[in-house]
Amino acid sequence: MTTHELNALLETTCPRLGQGRGDGEPLVAPIVQSTTFCRDGLDSDPEHKYSRESNPTVALLERALGTLEDAPPAVCYGTGLAAESGLFLTLLRAGDHVVCSRALYGGTTRLLERIFFGLGVATTFVDSTDVGEVERALEPNTKLVFLETPANPTLDLTDIRAVSALAKRAGAWVAVDNTFLTAVLQRPLDLGADFSVYSTTKSIEGHSVALGGAIVARDEEQLEALRFTRKCTGNIQSPFNAWLTLQGIKTLPLRLGRQCESAQRIVNWLVEHPATARVNYPTAPGFAQAELASVQHLGAHGAVVSFELEGGAERARAVSEHVTLCRLVEHVGSVETLLTHSASMTHGGVPRDQRELVGVTEGLLRLSVGLEHPDAIIHDLERAFRKTAAREEVTACPVSV
Ligand SMILES: *Cc1c(COP(=O)(O)O)cnc(C)c1O
Repeated sequence: MTTHELNALLETTCPRLGQGRGDGEPLVAPIVQSTTFCRDGLDSDPEHKYSRESNPTVALLERALGTLEDAPPAVCYGTGLAAESGLFLTLLRAGDHVVCSRALYGGTTRLLERIFFGLGVATTFVDSTDVGEVERALEPNTKLVFLETPANPTLDLTDIRAVSALAKRAGAWVAVDNTFLTAVLQRPLDLGADFSVYSTTKSIEGHSVALGGAIVARDEEQLEALRFTRKCTGNIQSPFNAWLTLQGIKTLPLRLGRQCESAQRIVNWLVEHPATARVNYPTAPGFAQAELASVQHLGAHGAVVSFELEGGAERARAVSEHVTLCRLVEHVGSVETLLTHSASMTHGGVPRDQRELVGVTEGLLRLSVGLEHPDAIIHDLERAFRKTAAREEVTACPVSV
């Protein structure tokens, strides 16, 4: 299937996910809040028994997320980190080893270093943009290679197909945190990965109203094992959040389409602007992995852009405080445009030398492009750039909006 055909299919599929069709059935599935379900007798085996194990509304979301990746129903969790915990608790035992991208969501690093290390699971963090570095880090006891691509906030990419092939030869599972692009723009399972991992809190729900996580896989045995761990540890998604997330999915392809178009316009403007020293986006000049992006992403590159300002930390902090339309928060993928000063916000707890190793410099800003008109976003940034500019730059500025 071509990218165009896939997009057309998703645009048609998404609004219909979870929809009723029988005579008198509600078009939009109701929320089943019940914690428990009745039985006819001691021998009955109803589909749902108790909502820690499974719930009809959560099951609708699970079917929807599976459908997006040609997979059986997903396994949904209370948050993205609950999904990651569920994956690690299912696959890993004391003495096992993990190889993981170094440029990673901070919560994932903390989970592996502060919780799983204490349980006897060691992790080697590597620059996974270099496939050779991943290969050299594999040990006989490596059970899992965990990737995040594009990585937050520099958008460094990992070649999922190449890493999956070498991990498979080494007998290790491959999981990809696909939160940034979602199944609409990147399909890790088609590239050889075993698990697509999501914080549905971000683009998938998309309106900043429901935390959630999910794991999508095609191996029924692994899905069963994930469900068993979830039942034992009790971190299933709530029915209300599952319902909200299901509403979000209906517009996911349209929202991402618009956000990618706006992101591209903003990138074009940023690369021309004298205030920016560097722009990270697969179509920006000098982006080292443009070719990989063009084969790994499905026709577009997502809502997140990051850029480095002339004037370093001081300027980046000042711009953060001068924007008005862009909201200063730690979040991505929502309908609102969101700005983050990564070094003091998402990566504030990471020591400076480690931050700089993954490209999170003091002058870096991350922009998650929302659904406002792109001119309004550019206007807001332009005003903040001007207010914080040195005199020479104001006169050099080629754009007026
Ligand atoms: C937010 C996020 C997570 C964690 O998800 P929560 O739902 O906040 O627990 C994991 N990975 C990435 C890439 C994220 O952006």
